[in-house]
Amino acid sequence: MHAQARENFSGRALSLAAGLPLCRRRPRALYVHLPFCARRCPYCDFAVAPWREGVGLEARYLAALEAEARARVPAGFRARTVYLGGGTPTELTLDGLRRLVDLLRPWASGAAEVTVEANPRTLLPRKLAPLVEGLGVTRLSLGAQSFTPRLLEALGRFHRPEDVARAVRLARDLGVPGVSIDLMVAIPGQTPADVEHDVDAALALEPDHVSVYCLTYEPGTPYHRQRRAGALVAHRPGAEARMLGLVRRRLRAAGFEHYEVSNYALPGRRSRHNRVYWRNHPYVGLGNGAASHLGGVRLMNHRDPLAYVEAVERGGEAVAEREALEPARKVRETAYLALRTSRGLDPGRFLRDTGVDPRAFFSDELARLTELGLVTTRGQRVVLTGRGVSLADAVGRELL
Ligand code: SF4
Repeated sequence: MHAQARENFSGRALSLAAGLPLCRRRPRALYVHLPFCARRCPYCDFAVAPWREGVGLEARYLAALEAEARARVPAGFRARTVYLGGGTPTELTLDGLRRLVDLLRPWASGAAEVTVEANPRTLLPRKLAPLVEGLGVTRLSLGAQSFTPRLLEALGRFHRPEDVARAVRLARDLGVPGVSIDLMVAIPGQTPADVEHDVDAALALEPDHVSVYCLTYEPGTPYHRQRRAGALVAHRPGAEARMLGLVRRRLRAAGFEHYEVSNYALPGRRSRHNRVYWRNHPYVGLGNGAASHLGGVRLMNHRDPLAYVEAVERGGEAVAEREALEPARKVRETAYLALRTSRGLDPGRFLRDTGVDPRAFFSDELARLTELGLVTTRGQRVVLTGRGVSLADAVGRELL
C-alpha cells in the first residue's frame, strides 16, 4: 500500500495510510484448526471432518499442519495466545496429540494463554494431559450448548448434562485454571424456563467464562433443510432477543461481565486470544478453513480437510483466498469489532490503531445509529445500547 495515494470512500477522502498501524503490528496469536469430530451435528457448517471420513487422514493432516506452519509462521514468531479449535481437537488419537504438541512447541511454548476446545462426552484425562503438559493449556472451552436432555437431543448432540460436569472436574484435576462453557439459545422447543435452567446449571459448575450463541440455520446443513420443509420451527427474532436478555441478566447477577456481544467473563478472566480478533490485530491461523491476518493481508485456507491436505502436499500451503484489505474496509471492520465489545469504540485507541478519528469518519453512521437507539456515548467512547447488543448484526451492516 502507498501512503501517498488517496481514495474516496462514501464521499470521504481517506489516506491510504489509514489502517497501516494495525497492519504493521507483529502477530502474537496462533489459531490451529483440528477438524475431526465424532460426528457432524445437524446444525454445524464448520470446516469439520466427521471421524468416519477423517480416519486415515490424521497423519497426513498433521504433516500438512507442520509444513504449513513452516511456510506461514513469520520468523521470530512466539505466540502470546494459542487457540486449538475445530472440530474437536481432542478427537485426535494419543499419538496425534503428541505429534501436535511437538510440532507446535517451537512457537507455542511459553504462551500466556492456551485454550483448547473439547466435547464434554469424549474428553478423557489421557487426551487432555499431553496438551496440558506439552503446551501448558490454561483454558478449556466446552461445547455444552444446553443442560436440558431433550434440547441436546434436538441439537443432535450425544453428550449428557453430567458429561459437562465430569469434563470440568477433569480439567481442574489436571490443573487447568480456566473453564469456558458454550451455551446456545433459540433451540427449537426451548422455553425461557429452559434458558434459565441452562444458565443456572452452567453457573453451578463455576466456570470463569461463558459464551452464548443463537442457533442459526446455515445453508447446506440438515437443520436448514428441515426448517425449509417445515419440520423445524425457528424462534422469532423477538423471542431470541428475550432469551439473550434473560441470559444477560442472570450472568450479570452472578458477577459476570458482558464484555463482548456473545461473551461473558468473571473479572480478569476475559479471553485474551479473542481480543486479538476483536481489535483486528494480526494473527496466524493454521489448518483447513483457518484464516490468517498478516501484514494487512487476509488469507483463507481451503475449507475441506482433504483439499487442504492435498494443497499443502502439492505446494506447501493451502490458501484458497487472499485479500489485501483496503484501508477503508479495515477501518470499518475495526470499528464494528470494537463496537461489539463492552469497551466500545474508543477514539484514542482507534486513532492509534488505524490513523483515523472515528467521530469524524463515522459521523453520519453514528448519528443514525444513535437516533435508532442502537449506540450511545459513555464518556469519550461509543458503545452499543442494550437494544444495539441484540441487533449487533444490523449495526454491523450499517458500519460495513
Ligand atoms: S462438535 Fe462442534 S464442530 Fe463438531 S460437528 Fe458438532 S458443532 Fe460442529
